[in-house]
This record gives sequence, structure tokens and C-alpha cells, in this order.
Amino acid sequence: MSVFANALQQLKIAAKQAGLSDEILQRLQKPERFFQFSLPLTMDDGSIKVFEAYRVQYSSARGPYKGGLRFHPKTNLDEVKALAFWMAIKCAVVGIPLGGAKGGITVDPKKLSKGELERLSRALARQMVPFIGPQQDIPAPDVNTTPEIMGWIMDEYSRQIGRFEPGVVTGKPLNLGGSQGRVPATAQGGLFVLLELLSKLKLQPKRVTAAVQGMGNVGGIMAQLLHQTGITVVAMSDSSGGVYNPQGLDVSAVEKYKKEYGSLKNCPAGMPITNQKLLELPVTLVIPAALENQITKDNATKIKAKVVLEMANGPTTPEADIKLAKRGVIVVPDVLSNAGGVTVSYFELVQNLQQYYWDEGEVMVKLEKIMKQSFKQVWHRAEQLKIDLRTAAYVVALERISQALEAKGKY
Ligand code: NAD
Repeated sequence: MSVFANALQQLKIAAKQAGLSDEILQRLQKPERFFQFSLPLTMDDGSIKVFEAYRVQYSSARGPYKGGLRFHPKTNLDEVKALAFWMAIKCAVVGIPLGGAKGGITVDPKKLSKGELERLSRALARQMVPFIGPQQDIPAPDVNTTPEIMGWIMDEYSRQIGRFEPGVVTGKPLNLGGSQGRVPATAQGGLFVLLELLSKLKLQPKRVTAAVQGMGNVGGIMAQLLHQTGITVVAMSDSSGGVYNPQGLDVSAVEKYKKEYGSLKNCPAGMPITNQKLLELPVTLVIPAALENQITKDNATKIKAKVVLEMANGPTTPEADIKLAKRGVIVVPDVLSNAGGVTVSYFELVQNLQQYYWDEGEVMVKLEKIMKQSFKQVWHRAEQLKIDLRTAAYVVALERISQALEAKGKY
């Protein structure tokens, strides 16, 4: 299943609603440019392995390219193109002055030693030196990439150009110019959006049950925040499978188990459940927070939740969207619900450039304002045009992107 084809399908559906000109639609169907690298890595045993890597700079219509780096064995150019396109849409949905990019290495980082992982990250940074930077393209963390890795990339870039340049990446450790609140930002942003939606639906958090797929930076923190808000989290999972307790999970105990044993296998907090069955549970809210293509034409009719809050990028295919809409399931699209991460990344860049840092309270107040306002704008467009929330989010974004392109004049 081509993830980029799915992304283009979403673009075409929304382009009609937004009345996008053919010229601008054509420009948005292709990335502005992309790079493919092969990275030779000296392994700890002295052997050499060569890894494929990519950076797709999709759109700079509204500002410098911005987007994460993914280290995953299935990462490929098609996926990275889709993720880069979604970044351009996402930055426009929340109205921050950035474009869209994404990158990654086809690698299973769990099979590398820490030294190998650092050397590989630095090798990627060296390849990207000519075309990244605070005014050009700013990478960030994504699946299997961490603040520590961002620190290595920042250091390698700074060494290569001969000056300290923290604004070249976001999601850095705090002592290297990272922003307060960046680690929980994506989940926190999703929670702000969710609370707005629940109030529209007149649903009290105490009456909401949730199943969360994925428990990394996004899913793990999301489960904790839901729990703190009074929402009952009945299921959680990682790549090895999940754990389910209809009475509600002790989220901290599940997190502790995962930290201790590395996976949720045999977790005593509930009964085992597969990642597919987790999505089909009879809950109010399903939160895919792992990888793309999880809700497809094959399982869309089995989803029993009222709401799908997309915290992963691209978890629902266009065919599944149609089936879910027919059954009245509300899908809060990734480009809105997980935009808290890039919003605080933008705050991090601003703080790096001005060399003046905000406390966590200030970051969260600014994040809340942007997320709630963006939700309201998307909700309003959906009601006005009688369309689903994904198409409405794209309409908002496409209007902003096309206005920027038009303001630049003919090329
Ligand atoms: P992460 O590496 O921290 O965690 C990924 C989690 O998904 C892990 O718990 C892993 O075990 C689980 N997982 C992997 N494959 C799975 C599978 N097949 N089924 C179920 N679970 C699986 O990554 P993350 O940063 O939490 O990113 C998760 C998703 O959120 C991705 O789609 C990413 O693009 C998106 N996202 C991340 C951010 C961010 O700030 N980190 C921002 C916006 C969107």
C-alpha cells in the first residue's frame, strides 16, 4: 500500500473543496526536492554495513522545511514523501511559518550498539550539512529518534560549519537549547484538541474509555495524560502486542513494566490483545499512535469507537475514511491532532534564534492557544462546508499554502 498515494488522494479530495487552482494542485503533488544517501557504517566488530537514508524537502511555500527523522527497518522513500507532505499541511493547519520535510534511515536501531547509532546519526548529519540549517530545513525526532540523537546531529552540524548552531534541529536535550515542554508536546497538543472535541460532543472525560496503540513518545505520554484527565484507558500496546483490561489499566504500572522488560509481553496488568483487536475494542476513543496504515478498508467496519484521534501520521487510509464517515465515526486527523509536536518545535527554533528561553508554563499556554484555535477553525470549516474534519483541516491548510504561493508571484 503506497502511503504517498494515500496522501495524494487526501490532497485531491480537499483540493476540490478548497477550490484550489490546477496550477497549485500540480505543484503540491510533488516534493520540491529530495535526497537519497547511502551511509557506510563501521560496526563495532570492524565490518562495514551500508544503510539507505532519505531527506524529502516537500514544500517551502510558507517557510523553511521542517520535519522529523525516522529510524525504522521499513522506512522508504514513498513513506518519507508522504510524511514530508503531511508536515507541510500540518504547519499550515496550525498557522506556524514553516514548510514540510521528513527524513529517515532504513535501519532497526535496536540492533545497533549505542556507539554505532551515534556514528550513523553523525554520518546522516554530515550528508545533510549543505541543505539543512535554521533558515533552510530543521529536522526533529520521529519514530525511534530521541533528544540524544538530535544532540549528536546538532553537534556534528555545528562542528562541520564551525559554529554553535542549536537551531539546526529541534527536540534537543534541554542543556543544548531544547525547549521546555517539547517531550510531551505532541501528546499534550492532542489532549487540548480532544478536550475541545469532547466539549462539542458534550461528553464528560469521566465517561470516556480509550484504547491507545503505540507507547513511545506520543502514545505513552498520551495514555498518561488521558489517565490524569479522568479518561479510562482500557488498552495499550507496543510493537510486540498489547494489554487489555475492561475495568481500566493502571497506566503507570504498564509503563513501569515496559521500562523494566522492554515490551508488554506477559504484562500482568490485563489480558493480552493484538494490535489489530485493540483498534476494534468497544471504547469511546481509539488512538492510533504508532505507524501508518492501521485502519484500512479491511477493518474500518469493525471499529466500534465513536472517535478516532489520529496521533500517528497516516494511520487511516482514504478508503477507511469513507467507511468510517458512513458509520458516523469522527476521525480527528493527524495533521491537526498531532501538530503539538511541530508547534513546540517551532517555539524551540524561535527560542534558539532569540537566545532567550521560556519556562514550561509559558510554552504550554502558547501551545494551548494554538491547538484550541486550530481545532475551532477546522471544526468551523467542517460545519460550514458539511465535510469531515480531515478534509476541513486540508481546506484550511491549502488556502494558506496557496495564498503564500500566489503572493510569491509567477516563477
Ligand atoms: P516512538 O519511536 O517513540 O514510539 C513508537 C511506538 O510505536 C513504540 O511504542 C513502538 O513499540 C510502537 N510500534 C511500532 N510498531 C508498531 C506496530 N506495528 N504496532 C503497534 N505499535 C507499534 O515514536 P513516536 O515519536 O511516539 O511516534 C509515533 C507516531 O507519532 C508516528 O507516526 C510519528 O510519525 C507520529 N508523530 C510523532 C511526533 C513526535 O513528536 N515524536 C509528532 C507528530 C507525530
